[in-house]
Amino acid sequence: MNSLSRSHFRRGGFLSALLPISLAITLSSVTFAQAGTASAVSTRNTAPALTATEKKAAARVKLETIRDITTTLSSPEFEGRGTGQPGADRAAHYLADRFAKVGLKPAGENGTYLQAIKFKSAQVLPETSVRVGDAALKHGEDYVILPPYTSEQVDATGGIVFAGYGVVSRELKRDDLAGLELKDKVVIILSGQPDGVDAAAWKRATNPQVRAVNIFGRGAVAMIVANAGTSAQPFSTIANYLSRRRVSLASAPPPMFKVPPVLLLSNTAMEKVFAGSEITYAQTLEKAKTSAVVSRDLGKTATLALRIKQEVTTSNNVVGVLEGSDAKLKEEAVVFSAHYDAYGLDNGRIYPGAADNALGTATITAIAEALVKAFSTPASRPRRSIIFLSVTGEEYGLFGSEYWVQHPTWPLEKVAADINFFGIGTVVYGPVKRVVGFGAEHSDLGNVFEDVVAATANVVTPDPMPEENAFVRSDHYAFVKKGVPALMLLGGPAGDVSLWIPRARKWLETDYHSPSDTVKPDWNWTGPQTLAQVGMIVGLRVANTEAMPMWRTTSPFNRPRNSLKSLPAN
Ligand SMILES: [Zn+2]
Repeated sequence: MNSLSRSHFRRGGFLSALLPISLAITLSSVTFAQAGTASAVSTRNTAPALTATEKKAAARVKLETIRDITTTLSSPEFEGRGTGQPGADRAAHYLADRFAKVGLKPAGENGTYLQAIKFKSAQVLPETSVRVGDAALKHGEDYVILPPYTSEQVDATGGIVFAGYGVVSRELKRDDLAGLELKDKVVIILSGQPDGVDAAAWKRATNPQVRAVNIFGRGAVAMIVANAGTSAQPFSTIANYLSRRRVSLASAPPPMFKVPPVLLLSNTAMEKVFAGSEITYAQTLEKAKTSAVVSRDLGKTATLALRIKQEVTTSNNVVGVLEGSDAKLKEEAVVFSAHYDAYGLDNGRIYPGAADNALGTATITAIAEALVKAFSTPASRPRRSIIFLSVTGEEYGLFGSEYWVQHPTWPLEKVAADINFFGIGTVVYGPVKRVVGFGAEHSDLGNVFEDVVAATANVVTPDPMPEENAFVRSDHYAFVKKGVPALMLLGGPAGDVSLWIPRARKWLETDYHSPSDTVKPDWNWTGPQTLAQVGMIVGLRVANTEAMPMWRTTSPFNRPRNSLKSLPAN
Protein backbone atom coordinates (compact mmCIF):
# COMPACT_ATOMS: atom_id res chain seq x y z
CA MET A 1 0.00 0.00 0.00
CA ASN A 2 1.07 3.51 -0.59
CA SER A 3 2.90 4.75 2.50
CA LEU A 4 1.02 5.65 5.52
CA SER A 5 -2.44 6.90 5.87
CA ARG A 6 -3.03 10.52 5.25
CA SER A 7 -5.16 10.62 8.36
CA HIS A 8 -2.19 9.84 10.56
CA PHE A 9 -0.40 12.90 9.36
CA ARG A 10 -3.46 15.06 9.48
CA ARG A 11 -3.41 14.38 13.17
CA GLY A 12 0.23 15.39 13.16
CA GLY A 13 -0.92 18.97 12.66
CA PHE A 14 2.23 20.85 12.01
CA LEU A 15 3.81 18.17 9.90
CA SER A 16 0.89 17.46 7.69
CA ALA A 17 1.06 20.53 5.55
CA LEU A 18 4.81 20.48 5.30
CA LEU A 19 4.88 16.92 4.18
CA PRO A 20 3.88 16.40 0.60
CA ILE A 21 3.92 12.68 1.10
CA SER A 22 1.45 10.65 3.02
CA LEU A 23 3.12 8.72 5.72
CA ALA A 24 1.73 6.48 8.35
CA ILE A 25 2.49 2.88 8.69
CA THR A 26 0.56 1.74 11.54
CA LEU A 27 -2.42 -0.38 11.05
CA SER A 28 -2.99 0.15 14.69
CA SER A 29 -3.68 -2.50 17.23
CA VAL A 30 -7.01 -0.87 17.94
CA THR A 31 -7.92 -1.29 14.33
CA PHE A 32 -7.16 -4.94 14.37
CA ALA A 33 -8.83 -5.57 17.68
CA GLN A 34 -12.02 -4.22 16.22
CA ALA A 35 -11.55 -6.37 13.19
CA GLY A 36 -11.76 -9.41 15.39
CA THR A 37 -15.50 -9.13 15.57
CA ALA A 38 -15.93 -8.90 11.82
CA SER A 39 -18.00 -11.68 10.40
CA ALA A 40 -19.07 -12.74 6.98
CA VAL A 41 -21.77 -10.73 5.31
CA SER A 42 -23.46 -11.33 2.07
CA THR A 43 -26.53 -9.63 0.78
CA ARG A 44 -27.14 -12.29 -1.83
CA ASN A 45 -28.49 -15.70 -1.05
CA THR A 46 -28.14 -17.57 -4.28
CA ALA A 47 -24.99 -17.45 -6.29
CA PRO A 48 -24.70 -19.09 -9.69
CA ALA A 49 -22.19 -21.93 -9.61
CA LEU A 50 -19.04 -21.74 -11.68
CA THR A 51 -19.49 -22.61 -15.33
CA ALA A 52 -17.46 -25.40 -16.89
CA THR A 53 -15.37 -22.76 -18.66
CA GLU A 54 -14.67 -20.89 -15.45
CA LYS A 55 -13.68 -24.12 -13.74
CA LYS A 56 -11.35 -24.94 -16.60
CA ALA A 57 -9.71 -21.51 -16.40
CA ALA A 58 -9.42 -21.69 -12.61
CA ALA A 59 -7.67 -25.03 -12.87
CA ARG A 60 -5.02 -23.38 -15.02
CA VAL A 61 -3.94 -20.93 -12.31
CA LYS A 62 -0.56 -22.34 -11.31
CA LEU A 63 0.68 -22.06 -7.78
CA GLU A 64 4.21 -22.64 -9.12
CA THR A 65 3.99 -19.52 -11.30
CA ILE A 66 3.00 -17.37 -8.35
CA ARG A 67 5.75 -18.81 -6.19
CA ASP A 68 8.39 -18.58 -8.89
CA ILE A 69 7.68 -14.95 -9.85
CA THR A 70 7.31 -13.77 -6.25
CA THR A 71 10.57 -15.44 -5.26
CA THR A 72 12.41 -14.14 -8.32
CA LEU A 73 11.25 -10.54 -8.04
CA SER A 74 12.06 -10.38 -4.33
CA SER A 75 15.53 -11.91 -4.81
CA PRO A 76 18.65 -9.73 -4.37
CA GLU A 77 19.12 -9.58 -8.15
CA PHE A 78 16.21 -7.14 -8.39
CA GLU A 79 17.47 -4.94 -5.55
CA GLY A 80 14.01 -4.15 -4.22
CA ARG A 81 12.72 -2.80 -7.56
CA GLY A 82 13.14 0.82 -6.54
CA THR A 83 11.43 3.27 -8.87
CA GLY A 84 14.05 4.78 -11.16
CA GLN A 85 16.75 2.33 -10.05
CA PRO A 86 18.39 -0.43 -12.13
CA GLY A 87 16.58 -3.13 -10.10
CA ALA A 88 13.20 -1.82 -11.23
CA ASP A 89 14.44 -1.75 -14.81
CA ARG A 90 15.47 -5.37 -14.54
CA ALA A 91 12.06 -6.19 -13.05
CA ALA A 92 10.21 -4.39 -15.85
CA HIS A 93 12.12 -6.28 -18.51
CA TYR A 94 11.65 -9.54 -16.64
CA LEU A 95 7.90 -8.94 -16.47
CA ALA A 96 7.72 -7.89 -20.13
CA ASP A 97 9.51 -11.12 -20.94
CA ARG A 98 7.07 -13.14 -18.82
CA PHE A 99 4.11 -11.41 -20.49
CA ALA A 100 5.58 -12.27 -23.90
CA LYS A 101 6.23 -15.90 -22.94
CA VAL A 102 2.74 -16.25 -21.51
CA GLY A 103 1.36 -15.11 -24.87
CA LEU A 104 0.09 -11.59 -24.14
CA LYS A 105 0.47 -8.96 -26.83
CA PRO A 106 2.37 -5.75 -26.04
CA ALA A 107 0.04 -2.96 -24.87
CA GLY A 108 2.55 -0.36 -23.72
CA GLU A 109 3.99 2.34 -25.94
CA ASN A 110 5.54 2.04 -29.42
CA GLY A 111 4.56 -1.59 -29.82
CA THR A 112 6.36 -2.65 -26.62
CA TYR A 113 5.23 -3.92 -23.24
CA LEU A 114 6.69 -0.84 -21.57
CA GLN A 115 5.42 2.63 -20.82
CA ALA A 116 8.29 4.88 -19.77
CA ILE A 117 7.73 7.47 -17.04
CA LYS A 118 10.22 10.15 -16.07
CA PHE A 119 10.82 10.57 -12.36
CA LYS A 120 12.99 12.79 -10.22
CA SER A 121 14.61 11.40 -7.13
CA ALA A 122 16.37 12.96 -4.18
CA GLN A 123 18.55 11.35 -1.55
CA VAL A 124 20.33 12.77 1.45
CA LEU A 125 24.02 11.96 0.99
CA PRO A 126 26.22 10.52 3.77
CA GLU A 127 28.44 13.63 3.71
CA THR A 128 25.53 15.64 5.11
CA SER A 129 26.34 16.86 8.60
CA VAL A 130 24.41 18.56 11.37
CA ARG A 131 26.17 19.74 14.53
CA VAL A 132 24.70 21.35 17.62
CA GLY A 133 27.34 22.74 19.91
CA ASP A 134 29.89 19.94 20.24
CA ALA A 135 27.52 17.15 19.25
CA ALA A 136 27.36 15.64 15.76
CA LEU A 137 23.86 14.38 15.00
CA LYS A 138 23.14 11.28 12.96
CA HIS A 139 20.82 11.48 9.94
CA GLY A 140 17.85 9.10 10.17
CA GLU A 141 18.39 8.56 13.88
CA ASP A 142 18.78 11.95 15.54
CA TYR A 143 17.23 14.01 12.78
CA VAL A 144 15.63 14.00 9.35
CA ILE A 145 15.22 16.77 6.82
CA LEU A 146 11.68 17.68 5.85
CA PRO A 147 11.01 17.70 2.12
CA PRO A 148 10.75 19.27 -0.33
CA TYR A 149 14.47 19.64 -0.84
CA THR A 150 14.91 22.83 -2.79
CA SER A 151 18.68 22.68 -3.30
CA GLU A 152 21.39 20.08 -3.66
CA GLN A 153 23.50 21.96 -1.16
CA VAL A 154 22.37 23.97 1.86
CA ASP A 155 24.75 25.46 4.41
CA ALA A 156 23.47 27.28 7.45
CA THR A 157 25.04 28.31 10.75
CA GLY A 158 23.38 30.16 13.57
CA GLY A 159 22.89 30.46 17.30
CA ILE A 160 20.15 28.16 18.59
CA VAL A 161 16.99 29.74 19.94
CA PHE A 162 14.27 27.65 21.52
CA ALA A 163 10.89 29.25 20.76
CA GLY A 164 8.46 26.99 22.60
CA TYR A 165 5.58 26.11 20.30
CA GLY A 166 6.48 29.03 18.04
CA VAL A 167 2.90 30.26 18.27
CA VAL A 168 1.91 33.87 17.87
CA SER A 169 -1.85 34.28 18.41
CA ARG A 170 -4.04 37.08 19.66
CA GLU A 171 -6.91 34.66 20.05
CA LEU A 172 -4.80 32.56 22.44
CA LYS A 173 -3.18 35.64 23.98
CA ARG A 174 0.14 34.06 23.29
CA ASP A 175 3.42 35.11 21.73
CA ASP A 176 6.14 32.48 21.99
CA LEU A 177 8.46 34.66 19.95
CA ALA A 178 8.20 37.73 22.19
CA GLY A 179 11.59 39.14 23.11
CA LEU A 180 13.51 36.68 20.96
CA GLU A 181 15.96 37.75 18.30
CA LEU A 182 15.53 35.24 15.44
CA LYS A 183 17.64 36.84 12.74
CA ASP A 184 20.36 34.45 11.52
CA LYS A 185 19.31 31.95 14.19
CA VAL A 186 18.45 28.28 14.06
CA VAL A 187 15.03 28.22 15.69
CA ILE A 188 13.61 25.21 17.50
CA ILE A 189 9.87 24.85 17.97
CA LEU A 190 7.71 22.13 19.50
CA SER A 191 5.07 20.15 17.68
CA GLY A 192 2.00 19.19 19.69
CA GLN A 193 0.01 21.38 22.06
CA PRO A 194 -0.05 22.41 25.71
CA ASP A 195 -2.63 20.95 28.09
CA GLY A 196 -5.97 22.63 28.33
CA VAL A 197 -5.82 24.87 25.27
CA ASP A 198 -8.81 25.30 22.98
CA ALA A 199 -8.01 22.71 20.31
CA ALA A 200 -9.71 24.61 17.48
CA ALA A 201 -7.99 27.88 18.31
CA TRP A 202 -4.70 26.05 18.65
CA LYS A 203 -5.17 24.47 15.26
CA ARG A 204 -5.78 27.88 13.69
CA ALA A 205 -2.72 29.30 15.38
CA THR A 206 -0.42 26.49 14.38
CA ASN A 207 -1.09 26.54 10.70
CA PRO A 208 2.35 25.39 9.45
CA GLN A 209 2.66 28.11 6.84
CA VAL A 210 1.86 30.79 9.40
CA ARG A 211 4.42 29.45 11.84
CA ALA A 212 7.04 29.14 9.10
CA VAL A 213 6.35 32.70 7.92
CA ASN A 214 6.59 33.95 11.51
CA ILE A 215 9.94 32.32 12.01
CA PHE A 216 11.57 32.71 8.60
CA GLY A 217 10.02 36.16 8.24
CA ARG A 218 12.10 37.19 11.25
CA GLY A 219 15.26 36.05 9.48
CA ALA A 220 15.85 32.55 10.88
CA VAL A 221 18.28 30.49 8.77
CA ALA A 222 16.83 27.10 9.71
CA MET A 223 14.01 25.63 11.73
CA ILE A 224 14.06 22.55 13.90
CA VAL A 225 10.84 20.83 14.96
CA ALA A 226 10.98 18.85 18.20
CA ASN A 227 8.34 16.60 19.78
CA ALA A 228 7.21 15.45 16.32
CA GLY A 229 6.55 11.83 17.27
CA THR A 230 3.28 10.57 18.72
CA SER A 231 2.38 7.28 20.33
CA ALA A 232 0.62 6.26 17.12
CA GLN A 233 3.58 7.35 15.04
CA PRO A 234 6.83 7.54 16.96
CA PHE A 235 9.75 9.63 15.75
CA SER A 236 11.62 6.46 14.74
CA THR A 237 8.85 5.64 12.26
CA ILE A 238 8.77 9.12 10.82
CA ALA A 239 12.56 9.08 10.57
CA ASN A 240 12.55 5.68 8.92
CA TYR A 241 10.46 7.01 6.03
CA LEU A 242 11.78 10.53 5.77
CA SER A 243 15.39 9.38 5.62
CA ARG A 244 14.67 7.30 2.54
CA ARG A 245 15.25 8.27 -1.04
CA ARG A 246 12.35 10.33 -2.34
CA VAL A 247 10.77 9.95 -5.76
CA SER A 248 8.25 12.10 -7.60
CA LEU A 249 7.09 12.55 -11.16
CA ALA A 250 9.59 14.62 -13.15
CA SER A 251 6.63 16.62 -14.46
CA ALA A 252 5.67 17.75 -10.93
CA PRO A 253 6.32 21.48 -10.53
CA PRO A 254 9.30 22.41 -8.36
CA PRO A 255 8.58 24.15 -5.04
CA MET A 256 7.54 27.76 -5.58
CA PHE A 257 9.79 29.17 -2.88
CA LYS A 258 13.22 28.33 -1.61
CA VAL A 259 12.46 27.80 2.04
CA PRO A 260 15.31 27.50 4.54
CA PRO A 261 15.84 23.96 5.83
CA VAL A 262 13.44 22.38 8.31
CA LEU A 263 14.68 19.46 10.40
CA LEU A 264 12.86 17.13 12.76
CA LEU A 265 14.84 16.10 15.84
CA SER A 266 14.39 13.09 18.09
CA ASN A 267 13.98 13.50 21.84
CA THR A 268 17.46 12.04 22.32
CA ALA A 269 18.94 14.63 19.99
CA MET A 270 17.00 17.36 21.76
CA GLU A 271 18.65 16.35 25.03
CA LYS A 272 22.00 16.85 23.29
CA VAL A 273 20.85 20.30 22.25
CA PHE A 274 19.95 21.11 25.86
CA ALA A 275 23.12 19.54 27.32
CA GLY A 276 24.84 22.07 29.57
CA SER A 277 21.66 24.10 30.15
CA GLU A 278 20.27 24.38 33.65
CA ILE A 279 17.15 22.55 32.45
CA THR A 280 16.83 19.35 30.40
CA TYR A 281 14.73 19.02 27.27
CA ALA A 282 12.35 16.64 29.06
CA GLN A 283 11.80 19.21 31.81
CA THR A 284 11.34 21.94 29.24
CA LEU A 285 8.71 19.91 27.42
CA GLU A 286 6.82 19.28 30.67
CA LYS A 287 6.92 22.98 31.42
CA ALA A 288 5.79 23.89 27.92
CA LYS A 289 2.75 21.67 28.34
CA THR A 290 1.62 23.85 31.22
CA SER A 291 1.85 26.88 28.90
CA ALA A 292 4.69 28.33 30.99
CA VAL A 293 7.10 30.47 29.00
CA VAL A 294 10.00 28.31 27.89
CA SER A 295 11.40 30.34 24.99
CA ARG A 296 15.09 31.08 25.38
CA ASP A 297 18.38 31.53 23.59
CA LEU A 298 20.36 28.35 24.24
CA GLY A 299 23.73 30.01 23.75
CA LYS A 300 24.93 27.37 21.33
CA THR A 301 25.60 27.25 17.62
CA ALA A 302 24.13 24.82 15.09
CA THR A 303 25.89 24.12 11.81
CA LEU A 304 24.05 22.45 8.98
CA ALA A 305 25.74 21.18 5.82
CA LEU A 306 23.05 19.39 3.84
CA ARG A 307 24.00 17.51 0.68
CA ILE A 308 21.23 16.08 -1.48
CA LYS A 309 21.68 14.01 -4.61
CA GLN A 310 18.99 14.84 -7.15
CA GLU A 311 18.50 12.82 -10.33
CA VAL A 312 16.08 12.48 -13.21
CA THR A 313 15.42 8.84 -13.94
CA THR A 314 13.07 6.65 -15.93
CA SER A 315 10.92 3.77 -14.75
CA ASN A 316 8.38 1.71 -16.66
CA ASN A 317 4.87 0.42 -16.35
CA VAL A 318 4.54 -3.00 -17.97
CA VAL A 319 1.41 -3.66 -20.04
CA GLY A 320 0.19 -6.70 -21.96
CA VAL A 321 -3.17 -7.62 -23.43
CA LEU A 322 -5.17 -10.71 -24.26
CA GLU A 323 -7.44 -9.64 -27.09
CA GLY A 324 -11.13 -10.37 -26.75
CA SER A 325 -13.17 -12.50 -29.11
CA ASP A 326 -16.24 -10.31 -29.66
CA ALA A 327 -15.92 -8.08 -32.72
CA LYS A 328 -17.32 -5.11 -30.86
CA LEU A 329 -16.67 -5.75 -27.18
CA LYS A 330 -12.99 -6.53 -27.74
CA GLU A 331 -12.46 -2.78 -28.06
CA GLU A 332 -13.27 -2.66 -24.36
CA ALA A 333 -11.07 -4.12 -21.66
CA VAL A 334 -10.92 -5.38 -18.11
CA VAL A 335 -7.66 -4.40 -16.38
CA PHE A 336 -5.82 -6.53 -13.83
CA SER A 337 -3.32 -4.37 -11.99
CA ALA A 338 -0.60 -4.76 -9.36
CA HIS A 339 2.40 -2.64 -8.51
CA TYR A 340 5.78 -4.29 -8.89
CA ASP A 341 7.94 -1.59 -7.29
CA ALA A 342 9.20 -1.63 -3.71
CA TYR A 343 11.57 0.71 -1.85
CA GLY A 344 14.59 -0.49 -3.80
CA LEU A 345 18.15 -0.06 -2.69
CA ASP A 346 18.30 2.69 -0.10
CA ASN A 347 21.16 3.60 2.23
CA GLY A 348 22.82 0.30 1.36
CA ARG A 349 19.79 -1.79 2.27
CA ILE A 350 17.51 -3.75 -0.08
CA TYR A 351 13.74 -3.60 0.43
CA PRO A 352 12.62 -6.83 -1.29
CA GLY A 353 8.88 -6.14 -1.18
CA ALA A 354 7.87 -9.80 -1.32
CA ALA A 355 4.35 -9.60 0.14
CA ASP A 356 4.07 -5.94 -0.90
CA ASN A 357 3.85 -6.50 -3.79
CA ALA A 358 5.87 -9.10 -5.70
CA LEU A 359 3.03 -11.40 -4.70
CA GLY A 360 0.36 -9.25 -6.38
CA THR A 361 2.52 -8.92 -9.49
CA ALA A 362 2.98 -12.68 -9.62
CA THR A 363 -0.76 -13.12 -9.14
CA ILE A 364 -1.78 -11.11 -12.21
CA THR A 365 0.88 -12.86 -14.28
CA ALA A 366 -0.48 -16.23 -13.19
CA ILE A 367 -3.96 -15.06 -14.20
CA ALA A 368 -2.63 -14.06 -17.62
CA GLU A 369 -1.00 -17.44 -18.04
CA ALA A 370 -4.17 -19.29 -17.01
CA LEU A 371 -6.41 -17.31 -19.36
CA VAL A 372 -4.13 -17.72 -22.36
CA LYS A 373 -3.87 -21.47 -21.74
CA ALA A 374 -7.55 -21.97 -21.02
CA PHE A 375 -8.66 -20.05 -24.11
CA SER A 376 -6.12 -21.23 -26.61
CA THR A 377 -8.10 -20.34 -29.74
CA PRO A 378 -8.99 -16.70 -30.44
CA ALA A 379 -12.69 -17.54 -30.83
CA SER A 380 -12.85 -19.17 -27.39
CA ARG A 381 -11.52 -16.14 -25.51
CA PRO A 382 -13.48 -13.80 -23.27
CA ARG A 383 -15.54 -11.28 -25.23
CA ARG A 384 -13.76 -8.20 -23.94
CA SER A 385 -10.01 -7.79 -24.01
CA ILE A 386 -8.06 -8.26 -20.80
CA ILE A 387 -5.17 -5.98 -19.91
CA PHE A 388 -2.43 -6.84 -17.45
CA LEU A 389 -0.86 -3.74 -15.98
CA SER A 390 2.07 -3.94 -13.63
CA VAL A 391 2.88 -0.47 -12.42
CA THR A 392 5.89 1.28 -10.96
CA GLY A 393 6.10 4.18 -8.48
CA GLU A 394 3.32 3.02 -6.16
CA GLU A 395 5.24 3.31 -2.94
CA TYR A 396 6.05 6.96 -3.47
CA GLY A 397 2.50 8.02 -4.35
CA LEU A 398 0.61 5.74 -6.79
CA PHE A 399 2.59 7.38 -9.59
CA GLY A 400 2.59 4.52 -12.12
CA SER A 401 -1.16 3.97 -12.02
CA GLU A 402 -1.86 7.71 -11.98
CA TYR A 403 0.38 8.09 -15.00
CA TRP A 404 -1.36 5.27 -16.85
CA VAL A 405 -4.83 6.74 -16.36
CA GLN A 406 -3.51 10.16 -17.43
CA HIS A 407 -1.71 8.65 -20.43
CA PRO A 408 -3.70 5.46 -21.00
CA THR A 409 -2.42 2.98 -23.56
CA TRP A 410 -6.05 1.85 -23.97
CA PRO A 411 -8.93 4.34 -24.20
CA LEU A 412 -10.13 4.90 -20.68
CA GLU A 413 -13.78 5.23 -21.75
CA LYS A 414 -13.41 1.61 -22.83
CA VAL A 415 -11.92 0.25 -19.64
CA ALA A 416 -14.74 -1.72 -18.05
CA ALA A 417 -13.14 -2.24 -14.65
CA ASP A 418 -9.89 -2.51 -12.74
CA ILE A 419 -9.17 -5.43 -10.44
CA ASN A 420 -6.15 -4.74 -8.27
CA PHE A 421 -3.97 -7.04 -6.19
CA PHE A 422 -2.15 -5.72 -3.20
CA GLY A 423 -1.60 -7.34 0.17
CA ILE A 424 -0.03 -7.32 3.57
CA GLY A 425 0.70 -11.03 3.48
CA THR A 426 -2.56 -12.35 4.97
CA VAL A 427 -3.11 -14.32 1.76
CA VAL A 428 -0.27 -16.74 2.62
CA TYR A 429 -1.41 -17.56 6.18
CA GLY A 430 -3.11 -20.72 4.99
CA PRO A 431 -5.64 -21.90 2.42
CA VAL A 432 -7.69 -18.79 1.56
CA LYS A 433 -11.34 -18.89 2.62
CA ARG A 434 -12.08 -15.22 3.18
CA VAL A 435 -11.93 -12.49 0.59
CA VAL A 436 -12.20 -8.76 1.13
CA GLY A 437 -13.36 -6.80 -1.90
CA PHE A 438 -12.40 -3.19 -1.28
CA GLY A 439 -14.77 -0.98 -3.22
CA ALA A 440 -17.33 -3.71 -3.89
CA GLU A 441 -20.14 -1.64 -2.44
CA HIS A 442 -19.62 1.16 -4.93
CA SER A 443 -20.46 -0.54 -8.23
CA ASP A 444 -21.94 -3.50 -10.09
CA LEU A 445 -18.63 -5.23 -9.41
CA GLY A 446 -19.94 -5.88 -5.91
CA ASN A 447 -22.58 -8.36 -7.07
CA VAL A 448 -20.17 -10.11 -9.39
CA PHE A 449 -17.63 -10.31 -6.57
CA GLU A 450 -20.12 -11.74 -4.08
CA ASP A 451 -21.34 -14.32 -6.59
CA VAL A 452 -17.84 -15.48 -7.42
CA VAL A 453 -16.73 -15.65 -3.80
CA ALA A 454 -19.77 -17.80 -2.98
CA ALA A 455 -19.41 -19.97 -6.08
CA THR A 456 -15.80 -20.72 -5.18
CA ALA A 457 -16.83 -21.70 -1.62
CA ASN A 458 -15.17 -18.66 -0.11
CA VAL A 459 -16.66 -16.09 2.24
CA VAL A 460 -17.05 -12.37 1.63
CA THR A 461 -15.41 -10.56 4.52
CA PRO A 462 -15.87 -6.89 5.36
CA ASP A 463 -12.94 -4.54 5.32
CA PRO A 464 -11.18 -5.52 8.55
CA MET A 465 -9.64 -2.07 8.98
CA PRO A 466 -12.04 0.57 7.66
CA GLU A 467 -10.19 3.34 9.52
CA GLU A 468 -7.21 2.79 7.27
CA ASN A 469 -9.22 3.94 4.29
CA ALA A 470 -7.40 1.36 2.18
CA PHE A 471 -9.70 1.89 -0.78
CA VAL A 472 -8.03 5.20 -1.59
CA ARG A 473 -4.48 3.95 -0.98
CA SER A 474 -3.60 1.61 -3.80
CA ASP A 475 -3.48 1.64 -7.56
CA HIS A 476 -7.12 0.88 -8.29
CA TYR A 477 -7.94 4.30 -6.83
CA ALA A 478 -6.29 6.00 -9.81
CA PHE A 479 -8.97 4.26 -11.90
CA VAL A 480 -11.74 5.16 -9.48
CA LYS A 481 -10.82 8.83 -9.71
CA LYS A 482 -11.22 8.63 -13.47
CA GLY A 483 -14.63 6.99 -13.25
CA VAL A 484 -13.61 3.37 -13.80
CA PRO A 485 -15.25 0.98 -11.29
CA ALA A 486 -12.60 -0.96 -9.39
CA LEU A 487 -12.02 -3.66 -6.82
CA MET A 488 -9.02 -4.42 -4.67
CA LEU A 489 -8.87 -7.98 -3.47
CA LEU A 490 -7.35 -9.20 -0.22
CA GLY A 491 -7.42 -12.82 0.91
CA GLY A 492 -7.12 -14.52 4.26
CA PRO A 493 -7.64 -17.92 5.85
CA ALA A 494 -10.79 -19.46 7.32
CA GLY A 495 -11.91 -18.75 10.85
CA ASP A 496 -12.46 -15.57 12.75
CA VAL A 497 -10.56 -12.60 11.40
CA SER A 498 -9.19 -12.03 14.90
CA LEU A 499 -7.03 -15.10 14.32
CA TRP A 500 -5.06 -13.12 11.73
CA ILE A 501 -4.36 -10.34 14.15
CA PRO A 502 -1.19 -11.29 16.02
CA ARG A 503 0.57 -12.36 12.84
CA ALA A 504 -0.54 -9.34 10.83
CA ARG A 505 0.41 -6.99 13.63
CA LYS A 506 3.85 -8.52 13.93
CA TRP A 507 4.39 -8.39 10.18
CA LEU A 508 3.34 -4.75 9.99
CA GLU A 509 5.74 -3.88 12.77
CA THR A 510 8.73 -5.82 11.54
CA ASP A 511 8.45 -6.53 7.82
CA TYR A 512 6.11 -4.03 6.13
CA HIS A 513 8.13 -1.63 3.93
CA SER A 514 11.25 -3.14 5.52
CA PRO A 515 14.28 -5.11 4.39
CA SER A 516 12.66 -8.18 5.98
CA ASP A 517 9.63 -8.28 3.64
CA THR A 518 10.96 -11.49 2.14
CA VAL A 519 9.38 -14.78 1.10
CA LYS A 520 9.08 -16.91 4.25
CA PRO A 521 9.37 -20.70 4.34
CA ASP A 522 5.96 -21.08 6.01
CA TRP A 523 4.00 -19.26 3.31
CA ASN A 524 1.02 -21.22 2.06
CA TRP A 525 1.02 -20.73 -1.71
CA THR A 526 -2.48 -22.12 -2.21
CA GLY A 527 -3.72 -18.87 -0.65
CA PRO A 528 -2.65 -16.56 -3.47
CA GLN A 529 -3.65 -19.26 -5.95
CA THR A 530 -7.21 -19.20 -4.62
CA LEU A 531 -7.30 -15.39 -4.61
CA ALA A 532 -6.03 -15.36 -8.20
CA GLN A 533 -8.84 -17.75 -9.16
CA VAL A 534 -11.47 -15.56 -7.51
CA GLY A 535 -10.12 -12.40 -9.16
CA MET A 536 -9.78 -14.09 -12.51
CA ILE A 537 -13.37 -15.32 -12.55
CA VAL A 538 -14.65 -11.88 -11.50
CA GLY A 539 -12.69 -10.48 -14.45
CA LEU A 540 -14.03 -13.17 -16.80
CA ARG A 541 -17.63 -12.42 -15.86
CA VAL A 542 -17.10 -8.69 -16.37
CA ALA A 543 -15.39 -9.41 -19.69
CA ASN A 544 -18.30 -11.53 -20.89
CA THR A 545 -21.24 -9.39 -19.69
CA GLU A 546 -22.92 -7.30 -22.39
CA ALA A 547 -22.82 -4.01 -20.47
CA MET A 548 -19.81 -2.56 -18.69
CA PRO A 549 -20.24 -2.35 -14.89
CA MET A 550 -21.85 0.82 -13.58
CA TRP A 551 -21.31 2.78 -10.39
CA ARG A 552 -24.08 2.67 -7.83
CA THR A 553 -25.89 5.94 -8.26
CA THR A 554 -25.43 6.62 -4.55
CA SER A 555 -21.66 6.12 -4.63
CA PRO A 556 -19.55 9.24 -4.14
CA PHE A 557 -17.34 7.85 -6.89
CA ASN A 558 -20.17 7.72 -9.42
CA ARG A 559 -19.00 9.56 -12.54
CA PRO A 560 -18.50 8.74 -16.22
CA ARG A 561 -15.32 7.00 -17.32
CA ASN A 562 -12.51 9.41 -18.16
CA SER A 563 -14.39 12.09 -16.32
CA LEU A 564 -12.53 15.32 -15.72
CA LYS A 565 -14.75 16.14 -12.77
CA SER A 566 -12.52 16.02 -9.76
CA LEU A 567 -13.24 13.90 -6.76
CA PRO A 568 -13.50 15.19 -3.23
CA ALA A 569 -10.13 15.01 -1.51
CA ASN A 570 -9.55 11.69 0.21
ZN1 LIG B 1 3.75 -0.57 0.12
